[in-house]
Amino acid sequence: MLTILYRGPLASCDYDCAYCPFAKRRDTPEQLRADRAALERFAGWVAEQPFEVSVLFTPWGEGLVRSWYRRALVELSWLPNVTKVAIQTNLSCRTEWLSEASDRAALWVTYHPTQVPYDRFLGKIRSLPVRHSVGIVGDPAHLTHARRLRTDLPADTYLWVNAEEGRLYTDGEAAEWSEIDPLFHYSRFAHPSAGLPCRTGDDVISVNGDGTVRRCHFIPEVLGNLYDGSYRAALRPRPPCPAAACDCHIGYVHLEPLGLYDVFAGGVPERIPAAWPREPSPGLLGHRGAAGAGPSPMP
Ligand code: SF4
Ligand code: SF4
Repeated sequence: MLTILYRGPLASCDYDCAYCPFAKRRDTPEQLRADRAALERFAGWVAEQPFEVSVLFTPWGEGLVRSWYRRALVELSWLPNVTKVAIQTNLSCRTEWLSEASDRAALWVTYHPTQVPYDRFLGKIRSLPVRHSVGIVGDPAHLTHARRLRTDLPADTYLWVNAEEGRLYTDGEAAEWSEIDPLFHYSRFAHPSAGLPCRTGDDVISVNGDGTVRRCHFIPEVLGNLYDGSYRAALRPRPPCPAAACDCHIGYVHLEPLGLYDVFAGGVPERIPAAWPREPSPGLLGHRGAAGAGPSPMP
């Protein structure tokens, strides 16, 4: 099976997060047409492959406000050789269309507290008809929002926390975020990766809009092109990472020594742990009590 992280030219977003270079950025009509053509070409390629493919769309901006991403998610989810098709999204789009997708479609949703009313976001999450994880950036200003979300989300919805870029957390701060996401320790520090075996470049690749294949989004070396098949000769088992460190989940989840394929077994693209929901931690129970949470079951 080949896992593909696809990122086309789309670089616009309807949100305005202070920490993001794509905030309120607009693509020109030509750029949108190019993005659509590239995505449709990619989806056509996936449909023609004789082997199993798992896809995670990782657009720079927001994809699901564009019809071609919604259509690709639905159509790919029904292909017999597609084991999973997931997309990173802010979930600003309408969600009814997701009921047309098969159970192989999934969402990696990020909650941006400054951009969407809490109740609207929570309502959308609760009615999602496909597998999904929900996450938040570990900005101290988000801590109250994250606690509230953990309390209100269904117990079987995993809420991940990404360490904020450039932020060093004290042990006390890390413990607070770990009450919300017991796997926060994986995100807290960048992972030294030089010379370590990583699945990328073997059964995981990164593909951009023109079909250029790299092992991952973070290593610039080109392995070939998807559409002329030249990438295949470059794939080899577990090539070591040439970078000093890997600090993004979509990268280090493939770093073998971390063992995250076991942690996220069955849910690597959409970031859902195999053992979820978990037993409640005392800290989380205390928070729910303090927040006056209802009687819903605990993760
Ligand atoms: S929703 Fe994501 S892509 Fe859009 S501005 Fe916020 S962080 Fe950037
Ligand atoms: S460890 Fe990260 S940076 Fe290194 S090859 Fe793997 S995904 Fe790429």
